Amino acid sequence: MENFLLDRKIATEKDLKFAGYRKYFGKEIDVYYNAQVCKHVAACLKGLPVVFDTEKKPWIQVDNADSINDVIRVVNTCPTGALKYVVHDQDEG
Ligand code: SF4
Repeated sequence: MENFLLDRKIATEKDLKFAGYRKYFGKEIDVYYNAQVCKHVAACLKGLPVVFDTEKKPWIQVDNADSINDVIRVVNTCPTGALKYVVHDQDEG
């Protein structure tokens, strides 16, 4: 599993959920989103519309990406920190 930062500290999934992040499941990677933090800059919508699409429900469909690297790249372009990700462990169930 990759670690991610919340307030400049490595956060756990529990920390993210406590901070108001909602989890969007994927087979290899999960994306977390916090609507309170999002400023609707739309970098995610423009960067990877097959995954981030407000016309769909859920609006984040992680497994539509060709590669988890695309998901990681776009999550990292989110200017507010509203998006986070966790890559699953290779040996996970
Ligand atoms: S890139 Fe981040 S701040 Fe911009 S709309 Fe997406 S989640 Fe919100």
